[in-house]
Amino acid sequence: MSATVQKTTKRVLTRRGVVWLGQTCNLRCRFCYFQTRIEAKDHPEHPFMTLDKAKAIFDILRNHYGNNAIDIQGGEPTIFPGIEELCSHSAKIGLLPTLITNALVLAKREALQRLKDSGVRDLLVSVHGLGQNYDDMVGVPGAHKLQMAALDNCVALGMPVRFNCVLTKSSLPHLAGVARLAVSVGARAVNFIAFNPFEDQQKGERSLDDVAAYSEVSASLVPALDILRAAGIEANVRYFPLCQVPEAYRQHLYNFQQLPYDLHEWDYASWTFTDMKPQRMRAGELSPLVSLRQANARSPMFKGVPNYLDDPAISLEDEYRHSALIRAREHCGYRETPACQACGMRQICDGFHGDYAAFFGTDEAQAIQTPTPGAGPIVDPRHYINQQEKIVEPEDAGWAL
Ligand code: SF4
Repeated sequence: MSATVQKTTKRVLTRRGVVWLGQTCNLRCRFCYFQTRIEAKDHPEHPFMTLDKAKAIFDILRNHYGNNAIDIQGGEPTIFPGIEELCSHSAKIGLLPTLITNALVLAKREALQRLKDSGVRDLLVSVHGLGQNYDDMVGVPGAHKLQMAALDNCVALGMPVRFNCVLTKSSLPHLAGVARLAVSVGARAVNFIAFNPFEDQQKGERSLDDVAAYSEVSASLVPALDILRAAGIEANVRYFPLCQVPEAYRQHLYNFQQLPYDLHEWDYASWTFTDMKPQRMRAGELSPLVSLRQANARSPMFKGVPNYLDDPAISLEDEYRHSALIRAREHCGYRETPACQACGMRQICDGFHGDYAAFFGTDEAQAIQTPTPGAGPIVDPRHYINQQEKIVEPEDAGWAL
């Protein structure tokens, strides 16, 4: 790791945006949240957008939403025609680019060198398993070998990497191996992401072949976290109920209310804009701009709240928290379990996700006692994550440390 990367327990709101360039990909991951759109060439979100449209979105994120970094997704962004010019534009306007990538294309060192030269700040590499297991999960023979060659190239060229790993049933036996790989290549952070009923996985696509019980996930996850903690590598676990890991590991858990405090996660305000269909499609004009408060006010949860749009008592952090509740409850179908009613963390936890209870029931939930008995539930979403040391990249040191 570069000596200029620092660590902090200070939590500030992220300023990182996200864009989907189009659902075109060189892999066929069985758990992909966009699997229908990637398979169907005639889906309006399948083709990559034009370079000009992408640049226009980037300009809005920088100039209107004040973002200073961006996660660029495809599908697979390394096969987007003009990716180097787009990254170069992004870096030039002060929107430091990260590619969320399977990295297969970067097994060719010259391809990685070109991206580095264009101003890419780092790569978030999707490492969902290892060896034959990875090839089987992503549907392409030889994919693991290419990904390892790409990571070797990252080490050789000094391209910073972080990892994403989706917690499907088949990835669980490999979590410790993924953690060891992160240590060996000097990854700056590893994100373990619960396999959720998002996007195309909401339509009855999820099955017990891929969805694991929380207790099964936890048994593999905790040893992997131990490996990363021992090596001083930041580890984040997304969308995992707080009661499903021992207390010492809850500082790594990011549910919707904690996500805005992860500098490597997405700003709910600009995410609301880029998530709209016109910003995900090649065809058509961009949507009118929308503020986070305006978007919140459209939700049934806040529609009836008097003066919601101009109430000065609602702070910026409140807006992000309200968005978190909308995302968890309305968009993703998170639900409280019977145990949640007695839990001291119920105001900062999302509960169990969508269709989980239908697969496994809710008996795994265990109410957590508050540190001070009788003090009422914890209300600060940073209660546990305040203990976590997170990395701050050199460009962010001035405001994030
Ligand atoms: S609110 Fe529910 S799911 Fe969350 S920690 Fe408490 S019991 Fe577990």
